Amino acid sequence: MRILVVEDEPKVASFIRRALEEESYAVDVCPDGAGGLDWAQTVNYDLIVLDLMLPGLPGVEVLKRARAAGVKTPVMILTARSEVDQRVKGLDAGADDYLTKPFAIEELLARARALLRRSGGAPSGILQVDDVVLNPVTREVTRAEQRLEFTTKEYALLEYLMRNAGRVLTRSMIAEHVWDLDFDTFTNVIDVYISYLRNKIDKGRERNLIQTIRGSGYMMRSDG
Ligand code: CA
Repeated sequence: MRILVVEDEPKVASFIRRALEEESYAVDVCPDGAGGLDWAQTVNYDLIVLDLMLPGLPGVEVLKRARAAGVKTPVMILTARSEVDQRVKGLDAGADDYLTKPFAIEELLARARALLRRSGGAPSGILQVDDVVLNPVTREVTRAEQRLEFTTKEYALLEYLMRNAGRVLTRSMIAEHVWDLDFDTFTNVIDVYISYLRNKIDKGRERNLIQTIRGSGYMMRSDG
């Protein structure tokens, strides 16, 4: 799950980023409207959190242009409590939800989850590959009914692999969905994380579920 946060106030932006990253989303932060519009059109985000009061291109304009350009990503707008007309304009321009500042971070997270569920980005249904079972709501993972523990990034990678079980995932696909924009500088991080996952999931098992597809990337499937 990859989320774009367009917010010019550094404190608010880093607060949101930290909270989302703790939930194992990959997060990109953009401090201005024009950049945000550009990223929204370039990267296939699962959710955009968009502040309406931005320097340069205002949030409502970002949203209008993104929708006009065919960007279908769910958008949550952030407004001050007093900006009722802005909020209405935002919803008219194609926002899916809004949050007024100041907000409790738990509310932002809950609304983000709801939007991702609605858009099909984060189905609440259980994922299963062979005897590995992942519950996206409780974030519990078991193999052969034995509970496994993961770091935030490992969990995000595993969820992405399981959601796309049977499909070859290239390193750049994995990078785009699980890591952030500045990923390119350390590409072998994916291989390292795959080895962490293998240690926890496949090591000492009869069937190896995480497969290396030579020259392409990785795939998770049950007939390993
Ligand atoms: Ca602002």
